[in-house]
Amino acid sequence: MHKVTLIPGDGIGPEVTSAAVKIVEAAGVDIQWETKLMGQSALEKFGDPLPKDTIRSIEYNKAALKGPVATQIGTGFRSANVALRQSLNLYANIRPFKTIEGVKSKFENVDIVLFRENTEDLYLGIEHMVGKDAAEGIKIITREASERIASMAFSYAVREKRKKVTCVHKANIMKLTDGLFLSSVRDVAKKFPDIEFEDIIVDNACMKLVMNPEQFDVMVLPNLYGDIVSDLCAGLIGGLGVAQSVNIGAEAAVFEAIHGTAPDIVGKGIADPTASILCAVAMLKEIGENAAAEKINYAVLKVIREGKHVTVDIGGHATTEEMTQAIIDNL
Ligand code: ATP
Repeated sequence: MHKVTLIPGDGIGPEVTSAAVKIVEAAGVDIQWETKLMGQSALEKFGDPLPKDTIRSIEYNKAALKGPVATQIGTGFRSANVALRQSLNLYANIRPFKTIEGVKSKFENVDIVLFRENTEDLYLGIEHMVGKDAAEGIKIITREASERIASMAFSYAVREKRKKVTCVHKANIMKLTDGLFLSSVRDVAKKFPDIEFEDIIVDNACMKLVMNPEQFDVMVLPNLYGDIVSDLCAGLIGGLGVAQSVNIGAEAAVFEAIHGTAPDIVGKGIADPTASILCAVAMLKEIGENAAAEKINYAVLKVIREGKHVTVDIGGHATTEEMTQAIIDNL
């Protein structure tokens, strides 16, 4: 039996993670879920958006399936997501974006895997006011973190028989910080002569992605560009409802959908569970349950391809529950 931490999260989090749990159970995998709170729900119950008990559970179980958690903009507590990544040193965020047959999108053959550095950059939120009317933020880039994410991207490219790694940056303007990121990735690239390497400035990358995303393969980015470009990539394959990710470090892996808490549709029963289910598929592979993972993946893709029992965001009329049941019926 496996033990996995389950963080239902806020907003539509409980709706989509419970769909994933139901499907994993229907596939016959023996998992004991350890349910833990994080985000708004944890703040309300324990006065802490990231209780130590939640961190300890992931440290112990090594794997977690997580729903989105609320972060207040401008005020309130610091992002629990950022704090979680730092506490567990989940230094890489890996996001696959592959066209799904049956999901409307402008492109047919998108197959990008994006590696986002997860621990530094402007995303750390080190900011302060300078007087009353000026604010300053600090961007931190280190060789160690940059080489670590680059090594992971290149090793993945070799393992998965990918052809090319693209480093995205703005080193023409941020010569020291992004310059260091680029030179670190370049140094790692030299150790992988069989993988083609290119670098591209982030604005140019965005234009090329929306015009011809099929030219990209594996991409490696610092934290903030990674955050922005990954939402762009989610749009390329049909939206946030189907985009998944994993936060991974040396000691643990946290699987979560890219989308947020979707406050506009909470409680309506129409949230697309696909991203959360695909996260569960990736989690099952990580814990060695490959057969169940394949079975679920096949059933999800079949239901989406047929298009009869899918949620509104991907062109159907089904509720979360109806789509979940259709997937279970196809296992
Ligand atoms: P947060 O502040 O938590 O990031 P948000 O509303 O800014 O919330 P998302 O939650 O990612 O950002 O939502 C963006 C849009 O995508 C919303 O209109 C939302 O309803 C939609 N959306 C996100 N996830 C899903 C989903 N799983 N199924 C259907 N629609 C979704």
